[in-house]
Amino acid sequence: MKEVAILGGTFNPIHIGHIIAAQEVLTKKNLDHIIFIPTKNPPHKNFKELASPHDRYEMVRLAIKDNPNFMISDIEFKRDGNSYTYDTLIQLKEFMKDTKFHLILGFDALKYTDMWKNHEEVFKMASFIVVNRANSDSEMAEEIEAKKLKYNARISVVKIPDINISSTEIRNRVCNGESIKYLVPYEVEKYILSHGLYRGEGLERLWVYKKWSKKFIKTRKIYTFIKCWERSNKTG
Ligand code: ATP
Ligand code: MG
Repeated sequence: MKEVAILGGTFNPIHIGHIIAAQEVLTKKNLDHIIFIPTKNPPHKNFKELASPHDRYEMVRLAIKDNPNFMISDIEFKRDGNSYTYDTLIQLKEFMKDTKFHLILGFDALKYTDMWKNHEEVFKMASFIVVNRANSDSEMAEEIEAKKLKYNARISVVKIPDINISSTEIRNRVCNGESIKYLVPYEVEKYILSHGLYRGEGLERLWVYKKWSKKFIKTRKIYTFIKCWERSNKTG
């Protein structure tokens, strides 16, 4: 029987936190594969600047293409409506027989599982592997114990080096014109920059605005600051 773990996420964009977590789980749990599954419509998030499913899929593909144990699935893009882990697991179990499924979650995401569709069922269908995300061990142990008691859940922890990076931070850096080098794989960085992702919207892309703002660099800086600030308050 094969053992695989699913790492679901918005991946808006994928960053080294995701990749290191996946590799640590793969080796420490001795699994066959990790399947990265980008969500189409994150039901619990209201993104103002969510890159298209195609862009997010491409960035994940580029990030993992050299690792034979990493796979990507577009299963959630192909379904209508919101992306629910419950539906994904049912579908995967249908065409991947003889496979034991685990779900990888950062500790922040574990806290929200009570909001998932049919979460009690999901706890029965898969075991959970939780990775730390710059949180204390005791905080994690408490939450996991509570979930185990409440749902009879199978939850284990894989300790990874704390990587205090988020996609929100990457988006904000790009919008502010700051470097994202080494925070995302090289090809992902190239993709973001060449496709103009996360640069903030509207005015600052217009030619007239650019010309005008060259003369008024201070004004442009203030404008960009406000746009980025607005974005960071509306995303995540
Ligand atoms: P955002 O800031 O947009 O929420 P994110 O960095 O949290 O992005 P997601 O796509 O929301 O990335 O996360 C997918 C999964 O990966 C979640 O389970 C999340 O907890 C986990 N994860 C993300 N970043 C890290 C990290 N730096 N360390 C450990 N786990 C992480
Ligand atoms: Mg997140």
